[in-house]
Formats: sequence, C-alpha cells, structure tokens
Amino acid sequence: MIDIKSYNLTDMSALFKQWGEPAFRAKQVFRWLHRGVTDFDAMSDLSKALREKLSSTCTISSLQVERKQVSAIDGTIKYLWRLPDGNCIETVLMRYKHGNTVCISCQVGCRMGCAFCASTLGGKVRDLTPAEMLDQVMFTQLDSGEQVSNIVLMGIGEPLDNFDTVMRFLELVNSPDGLNIGMRHISLSTCGLADKIDLLAQRHLQLTLSVSLHAPDDETRSTIMPVNRAISVDRLMEACHNYFNVTGRRISFEYAMIDGVNDSDAQADLLAKKIKGIAAHVNLIPLNHVEESPLKPSRRVRQFQQRLEEKGIAVTVRRRLGSDIDASCGQLRRKAMNKQQSGKEADT
Ligand code: SAH
Repeated sequence: MIDIKSYNLTDMSALFKQWGEPAFRAKQVFRWLHRGVTDFDAMSDLSKALREKLSSTCTISSLQVERKQVSAIDGTIKYLWRLPDGNCIETVLMRYKHGNTVCISCQVGCRMGCAFCASTLGGKVRDLTPAEMLDQVMFTQLDSGEQVSNIVLMGIGEPLDNFDTVMRFLELVNSPDGLNIGMRHISLSTCGLADKIDLLAQRHLQLTLSVSLHAPDDETRSTIMPVNRAISVDRLMEACHNYFNVTGRRISFEYAMIDGVNDSDAQADLLAKKIKGIAAHVNLIPLNHVEESPLKPSRRVRQFQQRLEEKGIAVTVRRRLGSDIDASCGQLRRKAMNKQQSGKEADT
C-alpha cells in the first residue's frame, strides 16, 4: 500500500498520470489530505471510481489520542499519540505571545544515548514517516482547535538521523497547498551530526538550526553525549561555522545546565571561544529531572549567563512550560512504556 500523505505533489502527479488521470487530481487529493481527511470517500470532488482505486492502493495515516494532558499553569497541551502499529509518540503544543508552537517527534525513541534525556532510554524503535511527522502538526491543530504558527523539531528522536524523511516533512508542511508554515517559523534541533549539518547547509533552507551542544570540551561532552566520541566538538563547530557561512542564518546553541558537570566559568569561557565568528544565540536550559538519571540541575545558571553576556554573547534562559504535566522530552512516552511493561510482567 502507498503511504499517500508522505507523497509530495510531484509524486502524486506521477501516480495519477500513470493511472491516466488528469494532473490536477494531485492537487485535489493533496489538499484533502492536508486538511486532515482520513477517508477517501470524503473527497467529494473525485469520482467514485477514483476514490475506490485510491482506497484499494493507498492508506491515509492518522494518529489516535492515547493521552492528552493540559497544563493548568500555562495551557501547554501534551499529546501522547498511538500509531497504527501500537507505538506511541509525543507532541507538545506551547502557547507563546508570538503564537502557538508545536514540538514534534521524528523517531520512535532515539539511538543517540544522551545521559540526561528520557527519550533515548529504550533506544530507537523506528523512524517516523513524513506523514507521521505532518500528522502531529495537523492533528494537534484539529484536536485543540488552535492554529499552529511555529514548529520545533525538538521532540523525541534525532532529526538528522532521519534526514530524508525530515526534508520531505519540511517540504510538505511548507507547501502553499498544505499547512503553509514558513521555514522561518521552523527550528530543527540536532545533537550534532556534522556531516548531515553540512548536507543541510547545501539546501539553503531558511529554518533555524539549533545545536544541542551542552559542553564545549570533548571530555565533558563525550561523557554526557556519546555522539561526541565519534564527532568531536571541533568537527561539530567546523560544521556550524560552515553552516553559518553558507546560509547566513544565526545558529542557536542549546545548553542544558547540569550541576558540577558543564556549568563552570572555565566552560563558559571556552563556549564563548568556540562559537566566536558565528552569529549565535545560546539558550540555557534548566535541566529537567529524569528519574533514571543521577544528573542534577545546575545552581549556576545566572552566573553562567552573565559570564557569557560579558563576552558579548546573546543568551536566554529557557522558560519551563507545562511543568505540571511532564511536558519535557520523552517523559510521557517513557511512563506509558513503563506502565505497559509492568502490565506485561503482572500478566506473566
Ligand atoms: N535529538 C535532537 C532533538 C531532540 S531533544 C537534539 O539532540 O537536539 C531537544 C532538546 O532537549 C535537546 O537540546 C536536548 O539535548 C534537550 N534535552 C533532553 N533532555 C533534557 C533534559 N532532561 N533537560 C533539559 N534538556 C533536555
């Protein structure tokens, strides 16, 4: 069966051409799909014969709400979606003054192994499809009744480890015949797959690249982020410099502040040195506690911020949204998995 919602207009036109249908059918079907229609029979401007042909050859992806939590503090909504194969993924809708931002996942689990992150604890199960990424934006809008204006690829998974899918998703979500969300309203966050950052640079997209740096020295970074054992800080920074030179886009560096690990003045100074020459913005993230991890939130966030600011670096400290609903990465899926696991154990 064809996963039709992962198709772009070119693929769809080719399919219809093959079927002897006029090219404009592609746009009709594309528009229905991107409005959230999940049944070919609802596509009322297509002939019955074509609807039947579509039903017998194509599937339309969709997501079921497994759990939905709404923060009483700030209205953040967290969705745990169930996929048709039984896997679960998370999406978070955050309300900011400048509009609603949706944080989406790109994989079921993650294989990057960062020590502070709940998403990676069970490893990677599988990549998501472009349609499954798009569905998170679409069904969040449909379920919440809220218009989404910004997207961050900061949910579960490593976007650059599912590169082609993410590129297709960006094309789909950006389409004027679809959700039409501008690239400047999209951020892609990566743990630092340097070769893929080089590839991304060549695409000249107007999106914001966020790099999860979390430490400016190899010793610390390799301890908390296994990816650094293969890709050193210097190789990563080389890719960042190249990305900035090629695209002219400012890079955002994410830095989760961990007590006694990456929060010293010397590390602030080294961080400033490493990002010199790049139009950069440093986003300090108060560490979210993950039950399985011994790492503790830093008590030096303000000092670290000041130290960077003294060196002329733009720094913000991330505001925590949805703190009453476990809105941070991977935690809800993790809890659902644990529950499933203990359920299974109880059965046997
Ligand atoms: N794989 C991508 C995107 C997903 S994680 C990446 O690594 O960037 C989104 C962001 O949340 C990353 O910056 C990640 O390092 C950070 N993060 C993960 N767990 C965290 C925690 N417990 N506290 C604070 N930030 C965390």
